[in-house]
Amino acid sequence: MSHDCLFCKISQGEIPSKKVFENDEFFAFHDIQPAAPVHLLIVPKQHVTSMQQVTENDAGWLGRMMVLAARIAHENGCRPGPQGGFRLVTNSGLDGGQEVDHLHLHILGGERPWSQRADQNA
Ligand code: AMP
Ligand code: ZN
Repeated sequence: MSHDCLFCKISQGEIPSKKVFENDEFFAFHDIQPAAPVHLLIVPKQHVTSMQQVTENDAGWLGRMMVLAARIAHENGCRPGPQGGFRLVTNSGLDGGQEVDHLHLHILGGERPWSQRADQNA
């Protein structure tokens, strides 16, 4: 755990959030500034800065996070099937538009139109 990290603190329950899911590995919660009708964030509980740091050793939990993201999307208002769906985004580094330096997956969904922010950056 990195003690200066916002998403470490949220995933440890030290800073409040609107939690939608938690297990040993992951914590998911509502984005505080939603850019779409459904806008959730899922983070690993271990501190990983961004996708720039991952290696083949991380393939297992990264795969589990993607599978979990689809489940959480559907359980929280993203509509199923080809007419529905969702977007998964992980901004990495300054050029990637990352503001919080703890790897996170944005889950965006719900009926369109979404805000311009969602289509640019999330
Ligand atoms: P990124 O630009 O990909 O690093 O996204 C960071 C996201 O974290 C933004 O969408 C913010 O709205 C969101 N965020 C920042 N602080 C909080 C917080 N305390 N609780 C929930 N979401 C937050
Ligand atoms: Zn962290």
